[in-house]
Amino acid sequence: MTNVYSKNEKKIDTTLAHAGRSPRDFHGFVNPPVVHASTILFPDVETMATGKQTYTYGRRGTPTTDALEAAVAELEGAAGVKLANSGLNAIALACLSCLKAGDHLLVPDSAYGPTRHFADTVLPIYGVQVEYYDPSLDGAVRQHFKPNTSAVFVEAPGSLTFEMQDTPAIVEAAQTVGATVLMDNTWASPLYCQPIPMGVDLSIQAGTKYIVGHSDVMLGTIAASERAWPSLDRIYGAMGVSVGPDDVYLALRGLRTLSVRLERHMKNTLEVIGWLKDRDEVANIRYPALESDPGHDIWKRDFSGASGLFGFDFKNGTTKDQSNAFFNALSLFGLGYSWGGFESLAIPVRLKGARTVNLPDPNQLSTRLHIGLEDPEDLIRDLGQALDKALS
Ligand SMILES: *Cc1c(COP(=O)(O)O)cnc(C)c1O
Repeated sequence: MTNVYSKNEKKIDTTLAHAGRSPRDFHGFVNPPVVHASTILFPDVETMATGKQTYTYGRRGTPTTDALEAAVAELEGAAGVKLANSGLNAIALACLSCLKAGDHLLVPDSAYGPTRHFADTVLPIYGVQVEYYDPSLDGAVRQHFKPNTSAVFVEAPGSLTFEMQDTPAIVEAAQTVGATVLMDNTWASPLYCQPIPMGVDLSIQAGTKYIVGHSDVMLGTIAASERAWPSLDRIYGAMGVSVGPDDVYLALRGLRTLSVRLERHMKNTLEVIGWLKDRDEVANIRYPALESDPGHDIWKRDFSGASGLFGFDFKNGTTKDQSNAFFNALSLFGLGYSWGGFESLAIPVRLKGARTVNLPDPNQLSTRLHIGLEDPEDLIRDLGQALDKALS
């Protein structure tokens, strides 16, 4: 298992409690201050001219943003971390930091929909060629390499369909041609997977999900390897990104309980799945922590846990009306986008037009569930009554 913490003397839960904090710098207060700032004053014109002062302007960082960046960098085993205004913003900035006109970018067919939207609408304008690949190719992704292939995007497990990808094999292939590897690591969070020690250059989190953990903030993080850091730092500084201090603080607060929350998300999810798999209405469960999942071996090798997000397919012959009735009958599960908060959510999976390599079966009706921190018995009862009402 590739885990930065096997090399560190500190265990990851200790890092979660201590990273990014230096109480002695702030009169002993346990947490860093929430610094609201644009202007920062200089003592004299000489200091102003040289810029030799830790903080120079709000957009360039504050003790609050530094604290979250330092904490995430330690968790990710990164050379440096930058904060973004959302997960999608982090993906866009990471791509811009490693691509230029004339380059070719490979993106898995299973990537998060808005990642595809960014890649399709923005990158071509700036002369970057985008190609989608079958996420099951793993190291064989090299068959799509062109002389101008400069970056390979990875997302494991994939959005909505939960395919695992063999990240170390993709890294090995990419390194033969000097291509940058970017990974959307939101599902596992930096707690259950550390892509950078596996050789990934840019590890991206939608902090909106598990880091924040309370469905009340939009935020992204980009963690960079030594190799990718200088370019990320340069592009980021030029793009004018600035995340508000209250949101940064809430992410830092969320981070402290990431481990206890994720442990419970996983336990509840396994309990719900244990019940769901015996239901006649359910054909297939998509969750790499299950031994029956095609991605299980990769998950077991590369990840140290699983989160609360998974999918299932309704049995053949389920109608759209039945599927809709199921969602409408749920009472504890909210119908809404995003996930990673304390509460359970459900969405119907709509893959029509969302894939270009592995075209989905148009008759397949699927669900994505986020299992929250409620008592799983209540969640099971809610799912049971909704399945009974809609599909029996
Ligand atoms: C939600 C999500 C994002 C985007 O995060 P936002 O903060 O909503 O922009 C990126 N990647 C994955 C896998 C996600 O689930």
